[in-house]
Amino acid sequence: MPLPYDAEPQADMRAELAQHFAGWASPVQKLIAELDPLTTNRVKIHDIEPLSAFVKGRVALLGDAGHSTAPDLGQGGCQAVEDAWVLSNMLLTTNLSVADALKRYENARRDRTANLILKARKRADMIHGKDPDLTEEWYQNLAKEKGDNIMNAISNIILQGPLA
Ligand SMILES: Cc1cc2nc3c(=O)[nH]c(=O)nc-3n(C[C@H](O)[C@H](O)[C@H](O)COP(=O)(O)OP(=O)(O)OC[C@H]3O[C@@H](n4cnc5c(N)ncnc54)[C@H](O)[C@@H]3O)c2cc1C
Repeated sequence: MPLPYDAEPQADMRAELAQHFAGWASPVQKLIAELDPLTTNRVKIHDIEPLSAFVKGRVALLGDAGHSTAPDLGQGGCQAVEDAWVLSNMLLTTNLSVADALKRYENARRDRTANLILKARKRADMIHGKDPDLTEEWYQNLAKEKGDNIMNAISNIILQGPLA
C-alpha cells in the first residue's frame, strides 16, 4: 500500500533513483550513490483537476492552492502573479463587498487557470514518455526548432491573460 504524502522514508530515495536511472553512465550512478537523502529536498509535483470554485464567502484560494499544475509549461508562478494582480484589482474596485470582489476574482481566473492546467498536463504526457514514440518525435522536432514558435507560444499565453 502506498505511504501517505510526506511519509515516504527519505532513505529510499537512492534506491528509487538507482532504479529509474539503471544503465545510465557511471557519473550518474556516482551522483546517486553520493547523494545524502537527509539533506536533499524532494520537490513533489501535484497536478490536480481544475477546481470548480476558488472562493467560499470571504475565503479565496490563489496560486498553487487554487490550481496546482504540472510544471511543464512554466506557468505556475506566472499564474500565481496574475491571480494576485486580478485579486488586488477586484478588491480595489469593488463598491459592493469583499465577497463580491472575490466572486469577480473567481470568475476572472477559473477558466484561464483550468485551461493551463490541462495544457500543462498534455505537455507533461508528451515530454515525459507516456508514449515513448511521441516523446521521441517531440524532442526531434525541438532539436530543429529555431525558437520563433516557442517565443510565439509564450507571448500567446501572456496576451490571453489579464496583464496584456
Ligand atoms: C520543477 C518546477 C519547475 C517550475 N518552473 C516554473 C517556471 O518556470 N515558471 C513558473 O511560473 N512556475 C514554475 N513552477 C511553479 C511555481 O514554482 C509555483 O507555481 C509557485 O511557486 C506557486 O506559488 P504559491 O505562492 O502559490 O505557492 P508556494 O510557492 O508553494 O508558496 C506557498 C508557501 O506557503 C508556505 N506554507 C504552507 N503551509 C503553510 C502554513 N500552514 N502556514 C504558513 N505557511 C505555509 C510554504 O512553505 C510556501 O512557502 C515550477 C514548479 C516546479 C515544481
